[in-house]
Amino acid sequence: MSQGADRVWSVTEHLNSVLGRLAPLERIELQLLDAQGCVLVEDVTVPVALPPFENSSMDGYAVRTADVAAATREHPAVLDVIGDVAAGAGELPTVGPGQSARIMTGAPLPPGAEAVVPVEWTDGGTGGGPAAAMAPRASDPRGASGEVRVHRPAQSGQFVRARGSDAAAGELALAAGTVLGPPQIGLLAAIGRGTVAVRPRPRVVVLSTGSELVQPGEELRPGSIYDSNSFALTAAARAAGAIAYRVGAVTDEVETLRATIEDQLIRADMIVTSGGVSVGAYDVVKEALSTLGGSFGDQAEDSAGFVEFRRLAMQPGKPQGFGRIGPDRVPLFALPGNPVSAYVSFELFVRPAIRTLMGAATVHREVVRAVCVVGIEESPSGKRQYLRGHYDRMTGTVTPVGGSGSHLVKALAHADALIVVPEADTSVAAGAEVDVILLDQ
Ligand code: AMP
Ligand code: MG
Repeated sequence: MSQGADRVWSVTEHLNSVLGRLAPLERIELQLLDAQGCVLVEDVTVPVALPPFENSSMDGYAVRTADVAAATREHPAVLDVIGDVAAGAGELPTVGPGQSARIMTGAPLPPGAEAVVPVEWTDGGTGGGPAAAMAPRASDPRGASGEVRVHRPAQSGQFVRARGSDAAAGELALAAGTVLGPPQIGLLAAIGRGTVAVRPRPRVVVLSTGSELVQPGEELRPGSIYDSNSFALTAAARAAGAIAYRVGAVTDEVETLRATIEDQLIRADMIVTSGGVSVGAYDVVKEALSTLGGSFGDQAEDSAGFVEFRRLAMQPGKPQGFGRIGPDRVPLFALPGNPVSAYVSFELFVRPAIRTLMGAATVHREVVRAVCVVGIEESPSGKRQYLRGHYDRMTGTVTPVGGSGSHLVKALAHADALIVVPEADTSVAAGAEVDVILLDQ
């Protein structure tokens, strides 16, 4: 392997070197909905039993089991209805022998009662059957008069949710490391947590470089093209779990680019640029960032940080810049400009980096073995090639989509996988097995 500026890095070496320079973001306390998708960094215990009190799982009547033990359709038990117990009721009637209370789902079981008889097993207290039963009673809102006929006996605890039957006080609700999805956020709310300690979503600033770039929706000039990278990369950063800010396209001027990046540092946990990292005359990213000073690796960075530009043994995506800049050492990825190169580079390096900042347990995409149904005739020797493909989970096969050109954005948009052709292979026979990186969630 060659050293210094001539050195060519393998994909794995570059990835390891990048991830080795990143640490998860500091924990913060967030409102529940702001913590969606974040990794929990505290063990959350249940403060009070869930549910916090015995309550009914049905609309019906709270009864004493002895009173209905002999009840049948022919010989129903006839009980006095002494009141209504709605969800949220604070004051509860006491159910004595021969008595019952009309009760709603989620309402506390009143003292004296041992079970709930669903309204369907009664005449609804109206003599008219269950259909009219649960309607509010205009004459007496507490329903504190009348009788109910019960057709079936009830076991003790029937249709009653015991206190703590979901979770006991002191029990572990969610362990540190849990990713907070909707049900986990629901649980936190259910046990009364207003905020939780998590690793925040990284704030990723995305900008494109290129004087040829025009904002979509505007008129193309001769020789100009639409800026697609800043959109694709912002969307990709969001899909990876980040809060992403799209700055848009910056012209190929070193000072403009430097000033823009400097302005963005304040709100960035990571900066991603595209374009301007090759060896062309207007490759300003390289020019703007490689002169920040210092070095990276074993040597110390200077006050401004440093971005190193490397050549990788991969296709697409050979030129890659990475470093940490500004007083806070914000990680910066300088990705190549070709849209497919930029996107593949994001998938391989930036996405794992975002996931690392989030403290995620899995930082990489799922990789599967699949049968490549079409032969790949040419693959560059000595480079790991990533071709776009469509993966069929049912058959375990993958089909290349489009060619190897790194400008083929339509093919990329119709792909859901990357086919990996190893460095040593210069072709893939039809029917051969290959590694496939699945891009779908
Ligand atoms: P560069 O690395 O800046 O030389 O760009 C390589 C190729 O990618 C050129 O054809 C650029 O026009 C194209 N390109 C660079 N940035 C973008 C972008 N943001 N959106 C679409 N194409 C781009
Ligand atoms: Mg350019």
